[in-house]
Amino acid sequence: MREIIIIGSGPAGFTAAIYAARAGLKPLLLASSVEAGGELMNTTEVENFPGFPEGIQGPELMLKLQEQAEKFGTEVVLDDVTAVHLAGDVKSVETGYSGTFEARSVIFATGSAYRKLGLHDEERLSGRGVSWCATCDGFFFKTKTIAVVGGGDSAMEEATFLTRFAEKVYLVHRKDSLRASKIMQERAFANDKIEFVWNSEVVGIQGENAVEGLQLRNTVDGSTSQLPVQGLFVAIGNDPRVHLVHGQLDLTAEGTIAVEGRSSMTNLPGVFAAGDVIDPHYRQAVTAAASGTVAALDAEAFLAALDQAEAEASDLVTAS
Ligand SMILES: Cc1cc2nc3c(=O)[nH]c(=O)nc-3n(C[C@H](O)[C@H](O)[C@H](O)COP(=O)(O)OP(=O)(O)OC[C@H]3O[C@@H](n4cnc5c(N)ncnc54)[C@H](O)[C@@H]3O)c2cc1C
Repeated sequence: MREIIIIGSGPAGFTAAIYAARAGLKPLLLASSVEAGGELMNTTEVENFPGFPEGIQGPELMLKLQEQAEKFGTEVVLDDVTAVHLAGDVKSVETGYSGTFEARSVIFATGSAYRKLGLHDEERLSGRGVSWCATCDGFFFKTKTIAVVGGGDSAMEEATFLTRFAEKVYLVHRKDSLRASKIMQERAFANDKIEFVWNSEVVGIQGENAVEGLQLRNTVDGSTSQLPVQGLFVAIGNDPRVHLVHGQLDLTAEGTIAVEGRSSMTNLPGVFAAGDVIDPHYRQAVTAAASGTVAALDAEAFLAALDQAEAEASDLVTAS
């Protein structure tokens, strides 16, 4: 049986692996098959990860994290976890092709997925004008005209934040009223740089190598129109990847895995969670990495306490 299994190969998973491996725990990291490397595999330039003043390409950063985790003895398996059994002292983790693994502790670092519009061009122009994260990419849109799609708090927040960089921000919403909180709406309405485009949905994104415009469809009369923009921010929600743990781990109202305070401890002993899967708010590579550190240290302390309890129990048996 292994000491520790880490599920997920984003910044949280690999950072947890670096710490666990350096602590001599020989972690097994189940990285997923096609989505190994996590969300940063979908982006180009990352300019806000500390230590890279010139910036670094997302996939390159993830390869470096993997290399660092493997250097200290992490075993990385490119397979998807299909089921987990977390109660009890032995945790078992089933995978698509590599069989079932058992461990005394498990760290969940499965991330979360931004909801997409579902347009072909959205994938094609991802990192070339299409983004899901204003904090990550707003800086690239200085003096540009851009659009934000959505009608909730996060769309208002992203649009308002983006006016720091962009010359103009269109807020495209498919209804004629918003579901965002009143205060967020008022802030957006009061911002001169934001123009609302009501009753409209994006049905196409134009541009060969970069976003040049959007095709909109009016949701009331079905008419179509063009909106010339150089950027599109999709802010229609985010889904933590928690389907594996439904019914086993407690979740928060936002759908993330619930952890105790600033720790990574879930409601089950020996089960820890880190990164975007526990974070409804910050969702950055460096916060995920930091959270992976917390999880590895918590797991290490848990395993040390188990070892100590086992040693004390065996001393008692010997003495009697
Ligand atoms: C387009 C884009 C650009 C971004 N740019 C930046 C940026 O410039 N700077 C920044 O700080 N942040 C950026 N972010 C946010 C950043 O990518 C995330 O905050 C970060 O990746 C979260 O790390 P994580 O390890 O928690 O999860 P993720 O990176 O999402 O990794 C989760 C991992 O879990 C794996 N997984 C899930 N389910 C299973 C399963 N069943 N079996 C096995 N593996 C599984 C996934 O395959 C993935 O490898 C960007 C996000 C996107 C989408």
